[in-house]
Amino acid sequence: MINLILFGPPMAGKGTQATMLIETYDLIHLSTGDMLRAEIKAGTQLGLEAKTFMDRGDLVPDAVLVGMIQSTLSSNPDAKGYIFDGFPRTIPQAEALDKGLESLNTSIHMVLSMEVPREELRERRVKRALASGRTDDDPEVFEKRLDNYMNLTFPVKGYYQERNKLTEVDGIGSEEEVFARLKAAVDSLASDQG
Ligand code: AMP
Repeated sequence: MINLILFGPPMAGKGTQATMLIETYDLIHLSTGDMLRAEIKAGTQLGLEAKTFMDRGDLVPDAVLVGMIQSTLSSNPDAKGYIFDGFPRTIPQAEALDKGLESLNTSIHMVLSMEVPREELRERRVKRALASGRTDDDPEVFEKRLDNYMNLTFPVKGYYQERNKLTEVDGIGSEEEVFARLKAAVDSLASDQG
């Protein structure tokens, strides 16, 4: 199995790159943002609860996320691996993910941290807000999401750095340029493992 985390602030391009990576490496794309939006669309209780947090630009409580991830991991026993996109966003989520993977006798192999400066993220937000119609792309909500990223999610980088799993990748450039950098990092991992 090969398990990757695509890490980075909102608007770093994680979703786009995850889509390109799953095609190349035949992995399961696990985007917690997409999963939550699907719950909202389906009108489930979980979706209703999550929506209040998402609309404010806040993180959905850890217990909800951990439950979602655990059920996905256990319902895909034949997976070749995963790309976690937008998860983990807190240290408790990272710890829960480690435990969940350990029970499958596997682990996170690499955390690809997409580095994009704040000003560039703000410029991208303006463009996506026009196309996406996502209420959490509104300017005030987006600022809250950036603050939550710095306060709650950024420390997750240190968690993986301490475990020698972190690779920083320049997230500026065309989709193809960024993808080439990510691919080079993942391929180096595959050759390390022989
Ligand atoms: P995303 O599409 O990854 O930007 O996620 C959209 C929103 O869903 C976030 O702003 C959070 O409110 C919520 N969300 C997604 N993933 C997580 C997570 N791992 N932990 C907490 N909240 C999350």
